[in-house]
Amino acid sequence: MTPMPGPPLVFRWGASTHAGRVRSANQDSVFAQAPLFIVADGMGGHRAGETASRLTVESLSSGDFADVDALVEAVRETNRYVHGRASDDAELQGMGTTVTALRIAGSQHAALINVGDSRAYRLRGGRFERLTEDHSYVGTLLREGSISEQEAELHPYRNMLTRAIGIEPEVDVDSWTLELQAADRYLLCSDGLINELSDDQVQATLRRLADPGDAARELVRLANDRGGRDNITVVVIDVAADDGTASTPTAAPTADAAATEALPVVDPDGHDTMADTQPFAELADERAGRVPVTGTDNDGGDPAPPMLTWRLLGFVVLVMLAIFGAIAAVGWWARSGTHLDFAGDEVVIFDGRPGSVLWFEPTLVERTAIFRDELPEAIVADIDAGREVASLAEARTIVDELRAELGSSTPATPEADSTSETTDTESTTTTAVTADTESTTTTTATTVDTESTTTTAS
Ligand code: MG
Repeated sequence: MTPMPGPPLVFRWGASTHAGRVRSANQDSVFAQAPLFIVADGMGGHRAGETASRLTVESLSSGDFADVDALVEAVRETNRYVHGRASDDAELQGMGTTVTALRIAGSQHAALINVGDSRAYRLRGGRFERLTEDHSYVGTLLREGSISEQEAELHPYRNMLTRAIGIEPEVDVDSWTLELQAADRYLLCSDGLINELSDDQVQATLRRLADPGDAARELVRLANDRGGRDNITVVVIDVAADDGTASTPTAAPTADAAATEALPVVDPDGHDTMADTQPFAELADERAGRVPVTGTDNDGGDPAPPMLTWRLLGFVVLVMLAIFGAIAAVGWWARSGTHLDFAGDEVVIFDGRPGSVLWFEPTLVERTAIFRDELPEAIVADIDAGREVASLAEARTIVDELRAELGSSTPATPEADSTSETTDTESTTTTAVTADTESTTTTTATTVDTESTTTTAS
């Protein structure tokens, strides 16, 4: 039996991103423009984290995806691209990002993908439901029932991801096809929101405020009120039945493009880019903050003798090169190598040197299901000190030896392999959807809110 197509749907949305009250930079990036919505939370040091999330949002928003499979392939392609950029540039080594994206596909469906610990939720009728699973160490412990929600909130490894874009050459992508209903409200957010607010508080705010832009801004404000310890990004998307009063689809994009041109457009590589992607609130911040620095004095004051100016400039450039070179070298050193350490009481394999060096944190690569209390004291001490090895292969060999000594038959449980791509069975109904997306996803309002710019079009 062929399902009957529902009434035409229209979409309204609002987005807001903020650095929070503790961090100086916003490493989150956001894209909100029907039919595509993206939240990405970058990591790996100041510039690297910003770059990873920005590249991911740029890469995904530049393509078009008819269905969930195409979106998943685009995410995999994006991962290879970000990983390649990280490998080519010492300053960007080890950069990574989460990504949660929702793409309206056809007249009644949306594709949803997730990598990392940003989240998607759905408010439908009386039910508020999380749609994504966190790819984090703590998320894994929670799913296993090893720790409680309260313990998770205070867990020392609560920021440690088990899956992210850019870390490995290939990545597993969780994906779903969602059947959309009128009156659905979707929320995409970075962990800066949910680390400050409970699901109940988020739900109450989403129920209280009818306008998606107001809801997004209010959630960011509340997270800041409660500490704002991380960058906070929120996208709220409303689905409604088209009652014929929606404005034409072209209104919002035109207004967005006009707003874009008013911004200084300079990316870190010095290229003029992204004139058509104003909804990247993060980019807007970055552009506003990165006005090109020139060596000339424009205020009419006494100019220094030219030779001195150039010498001074040359000296400053040399000093800066030396500083950046040193940081890059430390970053390279911190990120090279592999070691074994305890995460909680479990032996795990990390990429990078033991401990954190500057802001370079080791990355959890593989869990072993071998625990502290199973091991002899000498080995515990060795691993406690951060047992450095030459390669992942050597680390695995050591783990295998430990396992053999313990007579344990517990297999390794690398998180990245334990949850393969999942596709909601709702996808079977997509065959009935033949309507063109562009003609049915009517834009009625766009609000992108940032520190520096607020754009509202209707
Ligand atoms: Mg975060």
